[in-house]
Amino acid sequence: MGDFKEHILFGFLTASIVSFLLRGYLFLQPLELILSVTMLVVGSILPDIDHENSYVHRAAKALASVGAAVLSLVLLPFPIHVNFVFSSAAFLLVYTSISSMRITHRGFTHSFSFCSTVTSLTVIASVYLYASPVPGLAVGLGMISHLMLDREFKIK
Ligand SMILES: [Zn+2]
Repeated sequence: MGDFKEHILFGFLTASIVSFLLRGYLFLQPLELILSVTMLVVGSILPDIDHENSYVHRAAKALASVGAAVLSLVLLPFPIHVNFVFSSAAFLLVYTSISSMRITHRGFTHSFSFCSTVTSLTVIASVYLYASPVPGLAVGLGMISHLMLDREFKIK
């Protein structure tokens, strides 16, 4: 249903309602608030990673292919000029592999299974890295707002 802008705005609206309901219980440090808002925005657009024209899909493709190239350059034991050849190949391989994937829009990434899996992982990472579950939970809140706006309420 929604586009990039609408998903982010609906994520903010959902966060506004939830934080109103939790007033008196939710006290965030400034850095915790910045992290949580960032994670809310990420969560509110993340399900559209299965849409090849979406910002998040293109960003993930760029990050994965450039990341593969950089890792090849840094980790391979050959001379630097040879590593550049391998990193070019790694970039092309990852980029074309992701481009050739036939993924169904509003498939698994628009399900509660994906939402709960990602939220569990981000809560664990958030507690481990920042000692607070709130930024991790914000991803889940953003994803739930996305699923509500898309009217997708499937389990898997
Ligand atoms: Zn969507």
